[in-house]
Parts: sequence; structure tokens; C-alpha cells
Amino acid sequence: MPSLLVKNLSAVVTCDDGDRVLKNADLYCENGVLRAIGGTLPQSADEVIDGSHFWCYPGLVNTHHHLYQIFSRNLPQVQNLELFDWLTALYEIWKNLDSAVVRLSTLTGCGELMKHGCTTVFDHHYVFPAGAGDLMGVQFAAAEELGVRFHASRGSMDLSKKDGGLPPDSVVQTVDEIMKDSARCIEAYHDPAFGSMRQVALAPCSPFSVSSELLRQSAVLARQYGVRLHTHLAETRDEEQFTLERFHMRPLEYMASLGWTGPDVWYAHGIHFNKEELRELARTGTGIAHCPISNMKLSSGVAQIPEMLELGVPVGLAVDGSASNDGSSLMEELRVAYLLHRLRTSAAAPSGYDILKLATRGSARLLGRTDIGSLEVGKCADFFLVDSRRLELVGGGYDPASVLATVGLRGPVDMTVVNGKIVVRDGRLTAVDENSVAADAGRVCGEYLARA
Ligand SMILES: [Zn+2]
Repeated sequence: MPSLLVKNLSAVVTCDDGDRVLKNADLYCENGVLRAIGGTLPQSADEVIDGSHFWCYPGLVNTHHHLYQIFSRNLPQVQNLELFDWLTALYEIWKNLDSAVVRLSTLTGCGELMKHGCTTVFDHHYVFPAGAGDLMGVQFAAAEELGVRFHASRGSMDLSKKDGGLPPDSVVQTVDEIMKDSARCIEAYHDPAFGSMRQVALAPCSPFSVSSELLRQSAVLARQYGVRLHTHLAETRDEEQFTLERFHMRPLEYMASLGWTGPDVWYAHGIHFNKEELRELARTGTGIAHCPISNMKLSSGVAQIPEMLELGVPVGLAVDGSASNDGSSLMEELRVAYLLHRLRTSAAAPSGYDILKLATRGSARLLGRTDIGSLEVGKCADFFLVDSRRLELVGGGYDPASVLATVGLRGPVDMTVVNGKIVVRDGRLTAVDENSVAADAGRVCGEYLARA
């Protein structure tokens, strides 16, 4: 039973129900689980770390990403396009993705997330070109290599350009093909147990790239297997116009009519909801993955996060795909989220600590996890450490609970621990050679872009 003891931590920001911040506390984990937290614990361990200059936080949980987009970021030709035109242009690149692109983009994107305190990653993968093989298996293998907790999605698209959708024919599938492979993915990879390192969600791409039948059948299948449902919603006004014209319903009403509300559903973005719709999200426990950087980059708008929190809508934080970010640091998202809502209001905007809670326990709730998201005895040993003596943090340490969102953290965290294992040490990934992963990824990315 591997064990880890961090002694005398300067601060442990637990994000528990009592919002406790413990000073001079020890933290002991065994077999992937937090067994004890408190002042001067009696335990010894396989590895003992001196925590006296470190602040300790629950691992960040990313609730929306498209890791494959790492290989199509910062492209000048799409820089000034808004969502629909941006997607149409990028599908010409994305239709060529294969298992090498998926493996290396998963390694690089998860690696960057882990170096910035993230311990659980959800990836919304929805591009499954014909003949590309078992891409979900490739993603889980890459995540396992790094040691990160991974939630994959069997995403899907069944409306191509000829049906009024945006993607080319080669990346869409029939509803039957999608349902069959969704069941296969869940049976092969989904582990619902406590401390699970692998979970699967069903995640059709968006209301404007899939049919009503695909959404309806996905909801039925997800509930048969007890897995969660995810898609993009209310990201732009274009989408609103699409559902109004086609179905004479606003986007949330349309999704609700297909079984897509409830505590097992979460949407990315959720920007253009009216007051009544926000109340409906709260009433049904339907969650929102807030992606502030992406929303700014694509001029999509500002999600009404203060109003959602006031009403009790479940909210988590996410980076979104790297083509609309253009990075994979959830840590950076903390500060951007904190500042973004202050553009509209000061008194009602979330505090720095509120934003940290969105990225930890809020995000864990969206993924349906009660075993991660806070530092409490009996929960998974997922956390990260920040050295409080860093030059850029001098003077900012009065309130360790808010500092990551207010002052912000430049550069990687000092240590990330997932399931009781050190996966980032001194700011570097422990399981892979970062330089060689980056070199391989750069080469494959170049070849992939050259094919478009
Ligand atoms: Zn997205």
C-alpha cells in the first residue's frame, strides 16, 4: 500500500463544507485515499515531504476540453472568425485526425493541465473519422501513462453539410453506428467505482451538428448505463436562431424536449439563457461548464455566472478546446473568470475563493463525482502544492484561499498528486520525458496540418 505524508503544510485550503483553511497541518494518504488531515499526525510513510512553505489545494477538475484541437491552435487564417465560420474552416483540418494526433494531443494537453494543478480531465471528443480506430482507447492509454484521472466522451455528429450541418461528410456517422459504438465504449472503459480513473460520458457535439433522434437516443442509452450527458449549449445567438427556425423552440426548451435536462446533464458555455431558463437549470440540477477564455476569444458573450450561483445552478470551470483558448491551463482560467465577472458587477461577482470552488468541488459535481473536489478524510488523494515563497506571490499570501484567482499563478505548480501518486514534481511531469513528448507532438502536428 503506497503512502505519502506531507508534513506541516503552511495552509491547506480544503474547499470542504465548512470552507476550512488549516494552518500548519499534515496530510496523509494511503492507497490513493486521504486517510488523515490535521496538526502533527503520527503516521510515517513511504515518502515524506516537508510542506512548511507550501499551500495545498484540492486538484482542479476540468469539465470541458477538445484535446485534439491542440494541434490546430493559433492559426492566423481563423483568428478573426466567430463560431460557425470558425468551425467550418477548422473541420477541413480536423477531418484528418488519427490515433497519433489523438495520442500526442492528449499527452500534451493533459500534461499542461497537470502542470497547472489539474488532476481530473474531461475531454469532449466528437470527431471520429471513418477508419481512425479506437480513439477512446488511445486517450485512456495516454491518460494512464501520465497518471491523470480521465473522463472521456463518446461524442458524435450525424448532420453534415448536405443536411444543413457544418462538418464534412467523412466525420459524421449514422445514429445506429454511433449508438453501437457508444455502448461498446461504455462497456469497455466506464468504471463507476469510488476512486475511478476512467469514466465515459455520451456527448453529441452540439444541437446544430446532430439530429433530434441522435440526442433522444443518446439520452436513453446514457440512462440505461448510468453515464452522464454532455454537449455545447447556448454558446452563440446563431445556435438560438437555428433551433428557433428548425424546431420553433429556444435551445434549452428543445434539449429538454429530448430528455436533456437533469442532474446527470451538463452543458458547455451556457451564455445566452434568459431568466426563466436559468431557473429551469437550477430546478432540474442541470450543470454549466464555464469557459471564460474561449467565450472571450470567439466573442460569444459573458455567461451569467453570478446569477447562476445565486439561483443554485451547478457550475464548474473549463478551458474548452485549445483552438478557442489557445492553451490548456485551468489555473489561468481561474484568474480570467475572476476578472471577467467584475466587468459587470463588483458586489455580486464571485470572489477569488468562489472561483476556486467552481474549479474544484463545482466541477467535480458536474462530472458526478463525490470522491474528488475537496480535501477531506475518505476522499481521493488528489491535490497540488504551491511554494508560497515565489517572488510573484510576495505580499499575496494573506489569503491563500483566494490568491490563485486574484493574484494568479504564473508558471507551473510545484507538485501535483493524483490518487496519492506524485505526477508533477518541481513543475515537471514525472511519468514522461516532456522534451521528447513535445518533440514528437510538434512533428506529428506539422504533418497533420500539412495534410489539410
Ligand atoms: Zn467546446
